[in-house]
Amino acid sequence: LNRRLAEFGTTIFAEMSALAQRTGAINLGQGFPDTDGPEEVREAAVRALRDGRGNQYPPGPGVPELRQAVADHQQRFHGLSHDPDTEVLITAGATEAIAATLLALLEPGDEVIALEPYYDSYAAGIAMAGGLRVPVTLRPYEGRFRLDLDELRAAVTPRTRLILLNTPHNPTGTVLTPEELAAVAELACERELLVVTDEVYEHLVFEGDHLPLATFASRHPDLRDRVVTISSAGKTFSYTGWKVGWVTAAPALISAVRSAKQYLTYVSAGPFQYAVAEALRLPDTYFTDLRADLRQKRDILADGLRAAGFEVYQPAGTYFITTDIAPLGEKDAYDFCRALPERCGVVAVPNSVFYDNPDTARTHVRFAFCKRAEVLTEAATRLRTTF
Ligand code: PMP
Ligand code: GLN
Repeated sequence: LNRRLAEFGTTIFAEMSALAQRTGAINLGQGFPDTDGPEEVREAAVRALRDGRGNQYPPGPGVPELRQAVADHQQRFHGLSHDPDTEVLITAGATEAIAATLLALLEPGDEVIALEPYYDSYAAGIAMAGGLRVPVTLRPYEGRFRLDLDELRAAVTPRTRLILLNTPHNPTGTVLTPEELAAVAELACERELLVVTDEVYEHLVFEGDHLPLATFASRHPDLRDRVVTISSAGKTFSYTGWKVGWVTAAPALISAVRSAKQYLTYVSAGPFQYAVAEALRLPDTYFTDLRADLRQKRDILADGLRAAGFEVYQPAGTYFITTDIAPLGEKDAYDFCRALPERCGVVAVPNSVFYDNPDTARTHVRFAFCKRAEVLTEAATRLRTTF
C-alpha cells in the first residue's frame, strides 16, 4: 500500500459487519436496511434487464431518463433547476461521486476543510487526490452536534481549496441549520472556495426540513459556480447495493468531475439507472411514509438506549444515533464495540475512528436504526438487560 493510503486499512463498516456475521449478533453497525425498498422499483430493474435497457454500456454521464429524473427531483423537492444534459452526472453511488469530485478539483497540497467526525471515505478520498484534510469538529451543545462558525472561518488558509460538507450528517445525525448553511455559503463566496456537499440523507429528516446548500445561491449568486451537490439512491430507496449516485452542479464543475469519473468506472450499472429514474418519480406519500417509519424506529432505539443508561444525542436526520458510553463507566468506544457482540449480541460502530484525534470522541458509539421494529426492540432489550 502506498504512503497516501497507508493509514487506511479495512473500513470500520466491513470490520464490524464481519464481526456481526461471525458472532450472529444484531448488526446495528454498518448502515443498511434489513428490508428492501419498494417492490415496484425492484420490478422496474427487472423490466429494464429483461427489455435490454442498460445491458450494454450506458452513456458516460448516465442514461438520459435518469438525468432528467434527477433534475426533476431537484426541482420538485428543492426548487433547484438543473439542465439534465450539462448539470447532472450519474455515478457509481455517492462514494464514486465524492472520489471523482476530489480527484477532479484538488491539486496536490490543497487543503480541504471537512466536518469532523467525517464519513470514512472522505479522508481516503482527500488522501488519494493528494489533498490535506483540515477537520472542523462538530461539538455537542444542548444535545445537538453543532458547527462552530468561528472555528470554520479560522480553518480557512490561503491553501484552502474546498469545504466538504455533509448534511444530514453521518454519524452525528445533525441537520445543519439555515444559519450554519448561510455562513458556509457566505464564507465560500468571500474566500473563493468550492463546497462539495454530500446530501445522501436528504430525505431522512425528522425535525424540520433538509435544506440543500445550493439553495443559498438565491442569496449569493456566486455560489452557483462553487457548489457540487452529491446524493444517491441507496438511502432514499433502501437499495444500498445498487450503487446509483449523482452529482448536480454548474456545467464547468460537472465537466471536471466527469473527466475523473470516466477513468474510475467509466459508467455504472445500466438497468439500475432506469429503475432509479422511476423511483425518483414515486408520489410524495412514499417520501413522507419513509420519514414517518424511520422516525418511529429512531424513537424505539433512542428510548431503548436511554433506558440502558447511554447518553443519546437525538438525531434530527440520517438513520444513525450517536451515543456516549461514559455514563456506563466505559472508557473506549473501540474496545466497547469489539466486546459488545460477546456481551449482549449487538454490533455498533465506534465514532472515534471518524476523527483525526480519536481522543476527541473516545466514548462515542453509533447505532443504526434502519432495521425492522422487532429487531430494534430486541436489540434494546439486550442492551437494557446487559447494562
Ligand atoms: N456519504 C455518506 C455520508 C454516507 O453515509 C454514505 C453511505 N452510506 C455514502 C456517502 C455512500 O453512499 P453510496 O452507497 O451511494 O456510495
Ligand atoms: N454509509 C454506511 C455507514 O455509514 C456504510 C457504507 C459502507 O459500508 N461503506 O454505515
